Amino acid sequence: MSIRAHIDAVYDEVRRRNPGEAEFHQAAAEVLHSLTPALERHPEYAEPGFLERLCEPERQLIFRVPWVDDQGVVRVNRGFRVEFNSALGPYKGGLRFHPSVNLGIVKFLGFEQIFKNALTGLGIGGGKGGSDFDPKGRSDAEVMRFCQSFMTELYRHLGEHTDVPAGDIGVGAREIGYLFGQYKRITNRYEAGVLTGKPVGWGGSHARTEATGYGAVYFAQEMLATRGESFDGRRVVVSGSGNVAVYAVEKVHALGGRVVACSDSSGYLVDDNGIDLDLLKDVKEVRRARLSAYAEARPGAVFSARGTLYDVPCDVALPCATQNELRREDAVSLVKNGVRAVAEGANMPCTPEAVEVFRDAGVLFGPGKAANAGGVATSALEMQQNAARDTWTFDQTESRLATIMRTVHTECRTTADTYAADPDDYVLGANVAGFLRVAEAMTAQGVI
Ligand code: NDP
Repeated sequence: MSIRAHIDAVYDEVRRRNPGEAEFHQAAAEVLHSLTPALERHPEYAEPGFLERLCEPERQLIFRVPWVDDQGVVRVNRGFRVEFNSALGPYKGGLRFHPSVNLGIVKFLGFEQIFKNALTGLGIGGGKGGSDFDPKGRSDAEVMRFCQSFMTELYRHLGEHTDVPAGDIGVGAREIGYLFGQYKRITNRYEAGVLTGKPVGWGGSHARTEATGYGAVYFAQEMLATRGESFDGRRVVVSGSGNVAVYAVEKVHALGGRVVACSDSSGYLVDDNGIDLDLLKDVKEVRRARLSAYAEARPGAVFSARGTLYDVPCDVALPCATQNELRREDAVSLVKNGVRAVAEGANMPCTPEAVEVFRDAGVLFGPGKAANAGGVATSALEMQQNAARDTWTFDQTESRLATIMRTVHTECRTTADTYAADPDDYVLGANVAGFLRVAEAMTAQGVI
C-alpha cells in the first residue's frame, strides 16, 4: 500500500471509530495528510499500527459533575479529560468550561496539544479537558462549587508527574484557584506543579497570563520578518477579547502596530484610533461585561452585533477566539483587503477552506499549534519553577518565551523547507516537526 493510501486508511478508521466528532476528524485530517513526506523518509512510522496508536488517546475520562446553584437547585454537568499521549512527558493541556464542550472537541484539542507541546521542545505530553458548564452569569460561589465537584472526581487522575491541567476558554485564575484548593484539600499535598496558570502570589509564573497572546504576536513578528516587514504602523484585527486576545492586543501595541477591531460572542468592535487596552481589560477582565460596554464608554468606537470583524481592512489578522470562527468567506474578504499575515492565537480558528484561500493568495499563515504554543511553553516554565521552588522575574520568563517562539518559528520553516521545499508552509512544518519528536519517543518506548 502506498503511504498516501495508508494515511487515507488510517483517517477513514479514525472517522469510523469516532462517529460524530467533527472537530477531531478535522484536526486528524490536517495532521495526517501533511505527514506524507515525513513517512516517505521514515517508513518505520508507516508500519501498521503506528499512526493508529497516535490517533487513539491513551485514556479518555467522562464523568458526572453535580453541584448546587445559589437557589439550592441541583445542576448536573459533564466533565471530560482526554489523556492523549505521554511519550514526551506528563499529559499537559488546558480545561475548557463552555456549553459547547463535548468529547469530540476535547479530543481535537488534545490531539493538537500533542504536536504543539512537542514543538516547544519541553518535556510535556498532550491532553485536554473541560466541561459543558457555562461560567457566564454564575456567581463566584457557584463557580467555586462547580470547580470543587469537578476536581473531586478528576483529582485521582492528576499529579505533577502524571497530568497537569491549565486554563482555556472559561477557565482563568479564579477557576484555577478553586480547582487547586480542592485538589490540595483532598490529597493533603501542596503539589504546586499539578495545575498551571496559578496567580503569581502562590506558585504561578510571571508572564503566564500574557504568554499565549504575546507568543502569537512574536510568532507573527517572525513571519513578517521573513519578508522584511514588521508590526510597526500596521493595522491589526484580533478576534475574541479573552485571555489570548487581550495580551495579543497589548503586544501588538508595544511593537508599534494598531489593533482596530476585536470581538466577543455577542459581536465585534471597531475602534479606528486603536483599542484602548485599559478600557478593554476593565470591561472584559474586571466587569466581565459584553463588548458593547466598551463602545458605550469610548467615543468613536462602534459595536456591531451582526457581521464580522474580518471585513475590517487590516494588514495582520490574529484569530484568538475559538475553533472554526474564520471561514472561507472571511479569508476571501481579508485577502481582498490586503492582509499580509494570519497567525492563529486560538486553536484551529481557521477552517481548512480558509487556510486554502490564504495559501493560494500567498498570505503568511501560522497555525495554532505553532503560533499559540507560547501559552503551554510558559506553563512548562511554571512547572520548572514549582519543581525548583523558585520564582523567576517577569523579564526572565518573557525572554525565555520569546526565545522559544523564535525557535518554534525557525523549526517550522526549516522542517517545511526540508520536507516540502517550501519554508512558508508552516502547517506542514509544524505538523512534521512535532510528529517526528513524538514518533521517536513512542518508538523507543515500545508498543504501549
Ligand atoms: P477566554 O475564555 O479567555 O476568551 C475567549 C474569547 O473568545 C472570549 O472573548 C469569548 O467571548 C470569545 N468566544 C468564545 N466563543 C466564541 C464564539 N463562538 N464566537 C465568538 N467569540 C467567541 O479563552 P482564551 O482566550 O483562553 O482562549 C481562546 C482560544 O485560545 C481558544 O481556542 C483556546 O483553546 C486557545 N488557547 C488558549 C490558551 C491559553 O493560554 N489561554 C493557550 C493556547 C490556546 P465571550 O467573552 O463573549 O465569552
